[in-house]
Amino acid sequence: KDFRNKVKPNWCPGCGDFSVLAAMQRAFANVGLEPHDVAIVSGIGCSGRISGYVNAYGFHGVHGRALPIAQGLKLANRDLTVIAAGGDGDGFAIGMAHTIHAIRRNVDITYIVMDNQVYGLTKGQTSPRSEVGFKTKSTPYGSIESAIHPMEMALTVGAGFVAQSVSSDLKQLTRVIEEGIKHKGFSLINVYSPCVTYNKINTYDWFKENLVNLDQVENYDPSDRQLAMQTLMENHGLVTGVIYQNKEQQSYESKIKGFKEEPLAKQDIMISREQFDKLVAEFA
Ligand code: SF4
Ligand code: MG
Repeated sequence: KDFRNKVKPNWCPGCGDFSVLAAMQRAFANVGLEPHDVAIVSGIGCSGRISGYVNAYGFHGVHGRALPIAQGLKLANRDLTVIAAGGDGDGFAIGMAHTIHAIRRNVDITYIVMDNQVYGLTKGQTSPRSEVGFKTKSTPYGSIESAIHPMEMALTVGAGFVAQSVSSDLKQLTRVIEEGIKHKGFSLINVYSPCVTYNKINTYDWFKENLVNLDQVENYDPSDRQLAMQTLMENHGLVTGVIYQNKEQQSYESKIKGFKEEPLAKQDIMISREQFDKLVAEFA
């Protein structure tokens, strides 16, 4: 079960996305998946390249639109483990409406966001995750917009699996991805994945100093939604680990009446020639 392929990532040396790639590949193997069981759909951005770097099915989509493609894929072929992946700009700016509705719809896919708090591919502008005061070429006096807090946002729209990790903790990152894959519903995993080229504030050292690891917090209970929200707010969202999980929540597809387990391609088409011709005539 080797999920590596021969394509060499063109990320800058030290980019946090390398760890996300390695963690994903390890998580797939640890869960016991084969390359043909996995499909990765990505958006646009440095991180969006990730779908081309894994030995599995890959679809490099349109900016902000990884989620609609990923959800459609899962509904058409429930046998696949579907991963959507992209950056904070992709998921929390242009794709934000999809993110919100995918969370509340709860199709059984895993969404991994590589959050570097900046736009890397376009050479360093503020993203919706940049903090107030963040200076870039496009905001020389510092950003005057407040940052989005994706974990709190996910909790308020009814997420069943909310987790966060950081590129420097490969062990936790791998485990969190494994748990996200195993969760029967939509899993949101936000990864602090430093952009070493354009974000000189939120660096590996900065995260080391500022992140609270929930795995080390005694009596932290991820099934307690109120505690999850409180913990996030008290720590300005700077926590890692599984923040919230509702194991009782039913996935979208499991609630559809008559929805079949097997992929569409393997289902019998129960329609006669006459019915088919009539259907076609209607659309002619
Ligand atoms: Fe990574 Fe930033 Fe380089 Fe893009 S620009 S590859 S996000 S380090
Ligand atoms: Mg980004």
